[in-house]
Formats: sequence, structure tokens, C-alpha cells
Amino acid sequence: MNKIIFATKNRGKIREVNDILKSSNIELVSLLDLGNVPEIVEDGLTFEDNAKIKAEIIFKTYGIPAMGDDSGLVVEQLDGRPGVYSARYAGEDATDDENNKKLLLELNNYSEPHHARFVCSAVYYDGNRFLTAYGEVKGIIIKEQRGDNGFGYDPLFLPDGYTLTSGELSLEEKNKISHRAIAFRNLKKLIV
Ligand code: IMP
Repeated sequence: MNKIIFATKNRGKIREVNDILKSSNIELVSLLDLGNVPEIVEDGLTFEDNAKIKAEIIFKTYGIPAMGDDSGLVVEQLDGRPGVYSARYAGEDATDDENNKKLLLELNNYSEPHHARFVCSAVYYDGNRFLTAYGEVKGIIIKEQRGDNGFGYDPLFLPDGYTLTSGELSLEEKNKISHRAIAFRNLKKLIV
């Protein structure tokens, strides 16, 4: 098994990526399993920049190949917001619920449908090579939160072609179509 550190503490992401890598020769370790985790400042201007920052810092700290990802929600009527600020849309320590409420408040000024997409950049770094992959899923933002599976904006996101929100889909169903699943499946192909 090849050990790779996934540069995140987000349990939702860890669950999703573990599921994608379960039949590979990759053993995933996350920042929840490690001590002395460095502070990571996500000050990149793009998803890819931030994913690179995460993978590079974690490789340099532990000397073990690392993967970082950066993801977020891009809403057309909001000129791409919340974008790279998705996690802290309603403030530095905002909860998912606060971010969702802020999104709905902003979208009150616009007519439906509110077209949006979840995007994800995933990067692998082993000291020699940066490998980069991308994934996205298109859908619309609905008016009220539905479902407690998933995390973040999942309860408000209705993927194109589905009647259930990402928050109502099972992990298995979400992983068939999610931006992160697509990005990590693509990254997995590049790593071997
Ligand atoms: P990151 O941890 O910097 O990638 O920030 C991602 C933020 O984007 C999360 O905190 C969520 O608010 C949002 N996000 C990313 N992926 C998803 C997803 O699969 N479902 C719901 N929200 C997501």
C-alpha cells in the first residue's frame, strides 16, 4: 500500500475520498490522524492554487506524498460567488447553516432558476511532481434546505437530472456524480 496524506480535517471529504480509493493500493491518512499539523493559509486566488498550497505544505511537513483539494460552489447570478470563499462566505468561522442562509438571502434578489456548479481541484505532490485534476457538477440552488447527508451547501443543491438534493442523496449516490469524486477519480488515474 502507498501511504498518501489527504490534507484535510473535513470528515465529509475524508469519507467521500476514502470511498473512492477503497479498491486501490492507496492508504489514505488524514490530518485528523496526525499530530503537529501546520497552519494552512488558503490565500490562493483559484481553487487549483489553494489545492497546491495544501499538498505542498503537508508534503514538506511530513515527507510523505500528499493530496490537497479545494472546492466550492460557483453561482452564476452571483458572478461566481461564493467561489473560493465558500467555506467562509458568512464569516471566518461560519457554520454550514450560516453560509446557506446567507446564500438564500443573496439569491432573494434574483429570479429562479439559480444555476450553479460545485467545482473541485485536486492536487498530488510528492516532492517531484505536482499532478492536478478537476471535476464539476452542475445544478440549481433551491429555496429551502433538504436532507442531512453530506455537508456544506448540499441541502440547497439539486444536481441536474435529479429530484433529490445532494443532502438527500446517499454517499454512494453522491459519489457517482460529485465534483470531488470526479476530480479524485481523475487524480487516482494520474498517480498510478
Ligand atoms: P474547502 O474545504 O476549502 O475546499 O472549502 C469547501 C467549501 O465549499 C465547504 O466548506 C463547503 O461550504 C463548500 N463545498 C465544497 N464541496 C462541497 C460539497 O460536496 N457539498 C457541499 N458543499 C461543498
